[in-house]
Amino acid sequence: MAIAEQLEQVQKRIADACEDCGRDPSEITLVAVSKTKPNSDILEARKASQIHFGENRAKELQDKMEQIEDDSIKWHFIGNLQTNKIKYMAERVDWIDSIHKKKALKEVEKRASAIERHINVLIQVNISDEDQKSGCDPEKLEGILKYAQDLKYTHVRGVMGMATFTDDLDVVRKEFKMLKKLRDEHLHLNGGAVELKEISMGMTNDLEVAIEEGSTMVRVGTAIFGERNYS
Ligand SMILES: *Cc1c(COP(=O)(O)O)cnc(C)c1O
Repeated sequence: MAIAEQLEQVQKRIADACEDCGRDPSEITLVAVSKTKPNSDILEARKASQIHFGENRAKELQDKMEQIEDDSIKWHFIGNLQTNKIKYMAERVDWIDSIHKKKALKEVEKRASAIERHINVLIQVNISDEDQKSGCDPEKLEGILKYAQDLKYTHVRGVMGMATFTDDLDVVRKEFKMLKKLRDEHLHLNGGAVELKEISMGMTNDLEVAIEEGSTMVRVGTAIFGERNYS
């Protein structure tokens, strides 16, 4: 099926999920996860009015941002972030959705302030117990947000989470509930450069559950671009 049609189906899934729980689809941002896919696929999706694109490898993101000269695209980095890669994306990336430590925030601020460019970030929180590396411990969130309040070019717009890789949607739902609850418990830290509006959760297999549990940003790859041959 053509990418435009698949995109339309994903938009329909989002609209249906919103209708089922009484939410407004305009509250949900769709991030099209184009990792491993060629530039031509991204351009096809862009033509079908998709704006936000996500990549999980720094080099691949850098190459795509350079090759696709389209200022209307909002680029998200959604992968495991090594601090030393931030300098390669600071000039063009719009969102870094996977920040999980102060050190990375500090580096984003350093690079962004040097070129006087504003960058949106999400703090990734570890909501599953399977992968210790993806996201900060929930107890660390408060300290990270307090630190972020004083930044000038780095804006914390919310939180991000990845559910356990499982077909058991009850497990997934529990983890999404936990992320929403954590966000709500930290709303008093809004101020300065922190505004906890966004909750990025939900992918191809669980976007309906995520929307029911309060997601404002879904990251969808497979349902738009088809299966990937590698990660
Ligand atoms: C690959 C990826 C997605 C998209 O996954 P699909 O199941 O293909 O929709 C979402 N978020 C992150 C962080 C990813 O790496």
